[in-house]
Amino acid sequence: MGFDLSEEQRAIRETMARFAVERLAPGAAERDRSAEFPAALVSELAALGGMAMKTSTMDEGPGADNLAYALAVEAVARADASVAVIMVASNLSAAILAANATEDQRNRFLRPVARGERGALSFGLTEPGAGSDAAAIRTTARSQGDTWIIDGTKQWITGAAGAEVFVIFAKTPEAGEGAVTCFIVEADAPGFSLGRVEDKMGLRSSGTAQLHFNGVRVPAANVVGQVGQGYRVALGALAPSRVAIAAQSLGIAERAFELGLSYAQERQVFGQPVAAFQNSRFVLADMRCALDQAWLLMLRAARLLDNGIPIRGEASMAKLVASETCGRVVDQMLQLHGGNGYSREYEIERLYRDARVMRIYEGTSEIQREVIARDLLGN
Ligand SMILES: Cc1cc2nc3c(=O)[nH]c(=O)nc-3n(C[C@H](O)[C@H](O)[C@H](O)COP(=O)(O)OP(=O)(O)OC[C@H]3O[C@@H](n4cnc5c(N)ncnc54)[C@H](O)[C@@H]3O)c2cc1C
Repeated sequence: MGFDLSEEQRAIRETMARFAVERLAPGAAERDRSAEFPAALVSELAALGGMAMKTSTMDEGPGADNLAYALAVEAVARADASVAVIMVASNLSAAILAANATEDQRNRFLRPVARGERGALSFGLTEPGAGSDAAAIRTTARSQGDTWIIDGTKQWITGAAGAEVFVIFAKTPEAGEGAVTCFIVEADAPGFSLGRVEDKMGLRSSGTAQLHFNGVRVPAANVVGQVGQGYRVALGALAPSRVAIAAQSLGIAERAFELGLSYAQERQVFGQPVAAFQNSRFVLADMRCALDQAWLLMLRAARLLDNGIPIRGEASMAKLVASETCGRVVDQMLQLHGGNGYSREYEIERLYRDARVMRIYEGTSEIQREVIARDLLGN
């Protein structure tokens, strides 16, 4: 596994890192307090191609590979993990469109997002009664001539508060029992409305909201992929997206590590810096090792994807280890801060809250272990 970055990968990472430092970092604490959806920043990031990064140049996207995309997410997450998750949800939806959309759908939805003209896309699978068990979704679409009529509720939808276009999944009983179909729904479709915006522990400005579908009529031209093939459509994009969540976890953890390292060297206790205590030194050493292990799994998964090798367990390993490591790193770095780490004045406090959901969304840690075990055991 080589670690050299191509010129293009380096350029993408540098562009995103510069944007993150100059545009995202300065207001991140304030957005955490206000929980305001960062619409203007999302537009700026979209204009850099950040909302459809892997979309090919033929579809007017940057054509980033999986590794460059992961490095971009990591850079953004270091500065503002809320913006990073909006980015990941949009890129997940864009990847679904890139793999399945018709020419008409590319023109109406994918290319405008790739050009930065339509903000971020949202991805809607989860419902109040169906998260890990995605087969339990109850949102239903029924066809009527050239139209589909959708009824139901989606929950926990990232970026929903600011999105114009949603890639969603609904049961389509006429395609068979349990059949699911993927649809594109626009925010101005009659019968569509945003429900409550979640008041969350972390990622406070990511605009997570419920979606209500009350007899929403969408044209048959908005069906993504084949009717009844929604799970195939979703699963094809979910494993690569787990690598992006690994990258997001690493971004949060790297920023926390940076803060812990410098605080431990500055803060004087018993007449010496916190970093002089053997315990602090060992914590820093252990967390650096854990972070590098997580990086290796993330890089391996991205490289496999870029070599055209379909992965499942490797993506879950990357996501599981990076998200669990992120949780440990933010906790240990907060501990090095002592009481100050518990204050909203210190960035580590926000990172601690932002980190928690890494182990929950895009498949909980338990679900990742299930996927890994299934690969090992064949069932
Ligand atoms: C901030 C945030 C943003 C999100 N963004 C999106 C989004 O943009 N789009 C979207 O569609 N969804 C989104 N989600 C939903 C997210 O993917 C789900 O919350 C997640 O998949 C878990 O589902 P659940 O919340 O229903 O938990 P449940 O499925 O109810 O799980 C509860 C507990 O049971 C455990 N469990 C479940 N099944 C098993 C099993 N087989 N073996 C062992 N343990 C098990 C889980 O690990 C968990 O600990 C988001 C969630 C959050 C919190």
